[in-house]
Amino acid sequence: MVARIDILTRAKATLEDITHRLSEVVRRSGVEEGVCHLFVPHTTAGIIINENDDPEVGRDILARLEALVPSKGNYHHLEGNAPAHIKASLVGSSQTVPIEKGRLVLGRWQGVFLCEFDGPRERSVLVQVMPAAARPGQPSEREAGQP
Ligand code: ZN
Repeated sequence: MVARIDILTRAKATLEDITHRLSEVVRRSGVEEGVCHLFVPHTTAGIIINENDDPEVGRDILARLEALVPSKGNYHHLEGNAPAHIKASLVGSSQTVPIEKGRLVLGRWQGVFLCEFDGPRERSVLVQVMPAAARPGQPSEREAGQP
């Protein structure tokens, strides 16, 4: 099953916390043990897992990426958004989170964020929730009659 989380980003560069929406996708899947794979099908957006307690952490991440890859510079890409492509490449376009007892296994301070580098725009995160394979001698979740 591939679910889709649609996000309308509101700024040129922003981190959008999708942790709650992702938890809801996992809950609805009924998977108890497994992995949740996330993929961003965009070339100027990415996905990170980091602190969602203090929003200043996200601000620092964006500021440091801007310092590494300044918006104004000598780039070849004619569309004019080369820095956004580079930042998206640096943070990556996928993440995987374990699922235990039907819930995402995230650290106490961790959240999952879509990283917008060329907004505002409509973005999507594709989410695939995969049950763990049954161990030999044990029935799979489906065989055991679970959803
Ligand atoms: Zn481009």
